[in-house]
Amino acid sequence: MPNIADSPASTPPADEIASPASPSRHGGLLVKIETDRRLGHEWDEWNGQPLANGGDFRTTAGKFFLFTAVGLTAIVVASAAGIFLLAPRLAQLAEWLPRALYLTDAGLALAGFTWLALIGASYATNRALLPGRFAERGLLLKTLRLASRVGEMFGVQRDWTDNAAIAVYNRLAWAREWRVRANEMLILIPRCLSRTALDGVMDIAKRYDVATFVATRGAYARQVIRERRPKAVVAVACERDMVSGLHDVAGRLPVLGLTMQLPNGPCKDASLDLAKMEEFVRKYLR
Ligand code: SF4
Repeated sequence: MPNIADSPASTPPADEIASPASPSRHGGLLVKIETDRRLGHEWDEWNGQPLANGGDFRTTAGKFFLFTAVGLTAIVVASAAGIFLLAPRLAQLAEWLPRALYLTDAGLALAGFTWLALIGASYATNRALLPGRFAERGLLLKTLRLASRVGEMFGVQRDWTDNAAIAVYNRLAWAREWRVRANEMLILIPRCLSRTALDGVMDIAKRYDVATFVATRGAYARQVIRERRPKAVVAVACERDMVSGLHDVAGRLPVLGLTMQLPNGPCKDASLDLAKMEEFVRKYLR
């Protein structure tokens, strides 16, 4: 029997404790979901105005590739400029040193752009062309934030770039064959889902007999994973929380991440694509 329970923090606030006494449509534990908005720290700077595009940041992967390429270029150019400025001093230490550093910079640039091209080829062909640690379980995770920071410099709200990055991540994660039993899998959902979305998730969890946890904070999500030791996770979150979560856990176990839509602003009444969610769950089940 699937159950839905709150994050097992040792001393969670009272309104976050799983409440067996609460009514449950599916016979499992049903956490008390508060209806008031409580902003996650990722949204600290939200000004209370409606979100762009009604809180729907679904976009194509192009922004991730574009901004990562720009970021890599900026790093290479800044390094070359630094070497140029320091060259006289470096040459005093060893005549060959500036030249060696220029060559290293050029080598790293070549490696970086070759890597990005291979990630692009993996994305375009739906094939895992790189080992996981050089792709969605390693290097790719380290570039997620670079892309969104560069995007912000060009005036692109980070949620769009994060959505693009998560699309790339998911495509690469999907390309790996990985199957687990239902009891080895977890569904992690945030506290901000609308009633309809929560009911839909519960239906899927019940049909596939997969345990579902409400991860009220990123730290709790990580704690659930530490304690339950799942072999695969389907996680639901907004783009900002998803990028943080993937950065923290996707290097250690297979994760597919489903982003949400936020028609009423952050951290309240979020909706999601339930068909996509079911697809993600089925992907990992034997
Ligand atoms: S997942 Fe929901 S509750 Fe968490 S930060 Fe995003 S919008 Fe807020």
